[in-house]
Amino acid sequence: MRARHRSAKPALSTGWPSGDRGLTALPGGATFSPADCHMLELQTPVQFVKGVGPGRARDLAAKNIHTVEDLLYTLPYRYEDRTRFCPVRELRPGEKTSVLVEVMSTGLTVTRKSRLKIFDLSARDKTGGVRCKWFHSEYLHRRKIFRRGQQVILYGKFEPAPYGAGSLQVINPEFEILDVDAEVSSQDSIEMGRIVPVYEAARGLGTRTLRRLIHTVLSELSDVPETLPPAILERHDLMDRRAALQESHFPSAETCREDLAARRTSALRRLIFEELFLLEVGIRWKRRLARNVRGMPFRIDPGLLRAAGDFLPFRPTRAQERVLNEMSEDMRRPNPMNRLLQGDVGCGKTVVALQAGAIAIENGAQAAFMAPTEILAEQHHHYARRLFDQSGYRVGLLTSGLKKAARRDLLEELSQGRLQLLIGTHALLEPDVAFRKLGLVIIDEQHRFGVRQRFNLMKKGAHPHTLVMTATPIPRTLSMTLYGDLDVSVIDEMPPNRRSVKTHLLDELKRSRAYRFIADQVRQGRQIYVLCPLIEESEKLDLRPARKIFEHLQGQVFPDFRVELLHGRLKNIEKDAIMKRFAAGHTDILVSTTVIEVGMDVANATVMLIEHAERFGLAQLHQLRGRVGRGPEPSYCLLMQGAGTIGPEAFQRLNCLRETTDGFVIAEKDLEIRGPGEFFGTRQSGLPTLRVADLLRDRRILETARREAATLVDNFESQESLVQWAAGLSSGWQARYGLVGVG
Ligand code: ADP
Ligand code: MG
Repeated sequence: MRARHRSAKPALSTGWPSGDRGLTALPGGATFSPADCHMLELQTPVQFVKGVGPGRARDLAAKNIHTVEDLLYTLPYRYEDRTRFCPVRELRPGEKTSVLVEVMSTGLTVTRKSRLKIFDLSARDKTGGVRCKWFHSEYLHRRKIFRRGQQVILYGKFEPAPYGAGSLQVINPEFEILDVDAEVSSQDSIEMGRIVPVYEAARGLGTRTLRRLIHTVLSELSDVPETLPPAILERHDLMDRRAALQESHFPSAETCREDLAARRTSALRRLIFEELFLLEVGIRWKRRLARNVRGMPFRIDPGLLRAAGDFLPFRPTRAQERVLNEMSEDMRRPNPMNRLLQGDVGCGKTVVALQAGAIAIENGAQAAFMAPTEILAEQHHHYARRLFDQSGYRVGLLTSGLKKAARRDLLEELSQGRLQLLIGTHALLEPDVAFRKLGLVIIDEQHRFGVRQRFNLMKKGAHPHTLVMTATPIPRTLSMTLYGDLDVSVIDEMPPNRRSVKTHLLDELKRSRAYRFIADQVRQGRQIYVLCPLIEESEKLDLRPARKIFEHLQGQVFPDFRVELLHGRLKNIEKDAIMKRFAAGHTDILVSTTVIEVGMDVANATVMLIEHAERFGLAQLHQLRGRVGRGPEPSYCLLMQGAGTIGPEAFQRLNCLRETTDGFVIAEKDLEIRGPGEFFGTRQSGLPTLRVADLLRDRRILETARREAATLVDNFESQESLVQWAAGLSSGWQARYGLVGVG
């Protein structure tokens, strides 16, 4: 056997493995020394793979590929069936296809008007010719990438050329140039005559390079420890790990092409299951740890519960009552509450949270209530003050705008325990904010915060009870993964005499009618929001900026009404004044950017006109619409679409909004349109980036994996035995899925 590593790497042969890459122990506890290694292990750094020099190692590192394992878990994003190419004559316009053709000629043209450089290539096979155009790819010309006579594979969408009688063209196709001596029919080629993996290319790393590296690694890999317990492999008929890796990169000839495209081969299914299972083990583990700590059990007798109800100026809905009961069950227990409260905008989450606050205060503890914006924090502050008017509780507000002296006084009261409820923004997280006895943490609009921030606020107490709230409903399967360490409560009922909001889709032609309608509403004493995407004039986009709209409305359309402009660049004190005037009914029409998105609560506002509605996301539109329909009067949401055509996705969004007001339906739709990655954002979830699985596509596998993970974790008798088991897992597991954020 040959030694695989190169000799000129002295820097790496000492001090490795470095401790910061998580679990690097080899099976059997052996330590790994590159010098006596002839085969590759999963933990081997990529530098030791044949064909990887320092430069390539850097390119790989930039792609987050450090070890052989990282490389193996870089899966192809598609597969190409090169056992048979589609002859050019049989190409179907509009379909994504790959063809094998010979280069005939190339050239660079520059468009006259916009000086746009376009690289042209014409090529053909025995049955016909195709033309390719690449935009912004001058390097193809400069570096003479293509030469006449070369065999190339082109992949893209072939369409009829605009002026070419019947011929097909493809714009910016992916391409692969075959070596001059490419053995097109060779048995063991990794490029041709088989199903070939195509990887996402990155800087310095073409798909061919990755393909070659991964092929090398697969053939020189010694031992691949199994991550899944045998019983689970058997129960779910899962392929063993090594075979799954092999087959996922280089599928055997008989593999079903459709299964590959849908990521449903048994090899891929095994890797998807593995990833989701390990993720769920981490989540369940965290949950188990969180359940093990001792918190601050509250005494909650029926009298206290009744008293918490007496604060309310209205009868709570059944859903609100149920949630209050769920929370008080939690808070009675010795281990702390970890609860997520979901409920559509306007369903009344805040009051329930404040009731929990009252329970904490009655138990001699303090409560912290964090909201994502100052306006929202101030609104909660007002609300809480009013609610607790008769109670004698001291309620404080902490935002970054607070004056130094006032802040000092507030913090002193807080640390002495004289202040019982502190409401605020991120300012609550500042290190000098210290409670005397923090017993309850409430976080509003949880998805606006990171998991870290939640933990940082919790650390200000000794395992306080925690309630996080969100108005972004998440389908149950996903919320259990995303918020797996939390129990979930749902308010699925609106307060009585809420009217559902009528939603209309409008275009420029109907603008004057919309204005007449607004004028009519104002004359009846109602108030109006006009929402705009941006404040300043934008050169690139044809958007109607808030300021322009404001000037137009006040100057020309509604000179007799009181119109105001609210946007994010105003000083907080100005924003506050504008909001207050609107809330007090002194303003008829509030032109605003999305700063009012969360939480604004003005019952007299009945119309929400959204300019350029096509530019907003579905969840955001739903939130914005939730600002109206909060009082007894019928309310309206007018979605004004910008001039010009809107894309099919935008149309789907607007239509969905017109059809339903159910937050869950909207969330599902949103998820479907955008996919889970964007839906969750990166900040809020605290989830590791998944390399193989897709939470939405693989929902079914996720369910099974979760069940198995729960059983496994719960059946370990001790924490130590669990740790021991995890140590046998692949490198980096703990860092990726493990105990981040549990402290
Ligand atoms: P959200 O869930 O969006 O945070 P809020 O807690 O802000 O909702 O409640 C929205 C409005 O509904 C508030 O003005 C609140 O006083 C009112 N509200 C909440 N619960 C009820 C109820 N059971 N009956 C009547 N009004 C209610
Ligand atoms: Mg709210």
